[in-house]
Amino acid sequence: MAEKTQAELLKEKLLYKPTSTGDGMTDADFDAAERFAEGYRAFLDAAKTEREAVDYTIKLLDKAGYHPFEQGRAYAAGDKLYCNVRGRALIMVTMGTKPLSEGVHIVASHIDSPRIDLKQRPLYEEGQLAFFKTHYYGGIKKYQWTAIPLALHGVVIKKDGSTLKVSIGEKDTDPVFTITDLLPHLSKDQMDRKLRDGIRGEELNILVGSRPFKDDKASERVKLRIAQILYEKYDLVEADFLSAELMLVPAFKARDVGLDASMLGAYGQDDRVCAYTSLMAEIEAKNPTYTTVTVFADKEEVGSDGNTGLHSEFMRYFLADLAAPHGVPVHRLLQNSRCLSADVSNAVDPTFPEVAEKNNSAYLGYGVAVMKYSGVGGKGGTNDASAEFMGYVRRLFDEAGVLWQTCELGKVDQGGGGTVAKFVANIGVEVIDVGVPVLSMHSPFEITSKADIYQAYRAFRAFYQ
Ligand code: MN
Ligand code: MN
Repeated sequence: MAEKTQAELLKEKLLYKPTSTGDGMTDADFDAAERFAEGYRAFLDAAKTEREAVDYTIKLLDKAGYHPFEQGRAYAAGDKLYCNVRGRALIMVTMGTKPLSEGVHIVASHIDSPRIDLKQRPLYEEGQLAFFKTHYYGGIKKYQWTAIPLALHGVVIKKDGSTLKVSIGEKDTDPVFTITDLLPHLSKDQMDRKLRDGIRGEELNILVGSRPFKDDKASERVKLRIAQILYEKYDLVEADFLSAELMLVPAFKARDVGLDASMLGAYGQDDRVCAYTSLMAEIEAKNPTYTTVTVFADKEEVGSDGNTGLHSEFMRYFLADLAAPHGVPVHRLLQNSRCLSADVSNAVDPTFPEVAEKNNSAYLGYGVAVMKYSGVGGKGGTNDASAEFMGYVRRLFDEAGVLWQTCELGKVDQGGGGTVAKFVANIGVEVIDVGVPVLSMHSPFEITSKADIYQAYRAFRAFYQ
C-alpha cells in the first residue's frame, strides 16, 4: 500500500467526515443488520396503528419477562416492568443499579403515523357508489394516498360498551379500500391546481361499495346494503361509528427495496423504526447502571397534544409513581435524567437536493442521525440540545463504535418541523434527537436503510448499557 501523503494524514487527523456504513461495517455486521431487519419487518406488518403497536409490543414484553407496573412497589435493580397508557402509549422500564435520584435514561419514540381517519358519520352514497368521509391525520401529501390499496383498522365501542377491534384488508383474502382519482384524460383543470390542492381534504373519500340492495322503492340502496353487511358480519349499526376510531392505512406489507435489498420500504416507519430499535435495546438491557425508560408516545404527528401525547403529563406521572416508594421526588429524578428523543430525520433525496444543505443533512447509509435542534424560523419551537449533552452523546457513540452523523431538517427557512424532544426538555431532562434517516417520509411507502436501522439499535443499546 502506498504511503499516505502529509495532506492525507492531516485530513485524517484534523478534518471531520462521517463514516458511511459501507465503509464502517463488516460483512458480518451487514448480516447482523439483515437478521435484525427480519424482526422489524414483522413488527411493521403487525403494528400499523398505535393500538396495534402497543398490543404487539406487550406480547414481546410478556415473553421477555416484563410485568405490568404495580403502584407503590419499590422495584429493585434488574426488574422489568411496563405501563400500558390507555392502550395507545406504552412505558417500559428496566431498573438500574444506580438510585432513581441520580436520574434515568429515557428513549422516547412515537407509534402513531400519518393516516386517513374516518369521520364520525362517514357512510354515504353518491352516484350509486358508497363511500366513507375522512379527515386526514398528520402531515400528508394528499395526492400520494389516492389509487392505492388501503386497509381499515381501529376500534368501535358499541352501544353496550363492548369493543370491536377492526382490521380489514391485511389478509390476502380480505377486500381492500381505495381513494379514487381522476383519469389523466379528463384532468385538465385538476392538473392546473397547485400540488397541495391536487387532491383536497374533502376529496379523500373511501370507496366501500357498489352493489345495491334489491328493492326498487328504497333510496340509497348501495349504502343500505353496506349497512346490512356491517350488521351481519360485524354486528354494527351506523350509530356505532359515533364512538369509533377507524383509520385507513396502506394495505401493503413491508418489502425489501433495491436490487441489493439494502433498504426497507413500508408504511409507518416514522416512527416505528425508532420504536422497534429502542424496544430491542430495552428488552436486552440487563442490570443497567441507570434505569432505562423506553417510551412509545401517541399523537406526535398532530403535535403531541392529548392524554397519550408527550405534551401531557403521562410520563411524568408514571415516573413520579415509580420513584415515590424510593422516597425520590420526581423533579429530582427528571433533572438528573437523560433522553434520546428517538425520531426519524429526513435523508437527502438526490432527486431533490435543493432543499438540503449538504454538510448538515442526513444521508441514507451513514448511520443513525443526531439532530441537535429542529424547529422553524430561527430555531423556533424546538429543543436545542446543549453542547455538554451533545458532547456526552458524541463520546458515548464513538466509544461504542456506533456509526452516526449530524443533521438538521433541511435548509434554513426551507420549512421545518419538530419532535417530542421539547416536551421532554421542558420538564427538566437533557434531551437530543436521535433517529433513522428516511426517504419519502410521511408517504404510504417510506424508505430506510437496513444498515442505519442496525446502527440506531446499537446507539440505543449503548445508551442503555
Ligand atoms: Mn416522527
Ligand atoms: Mn412524522
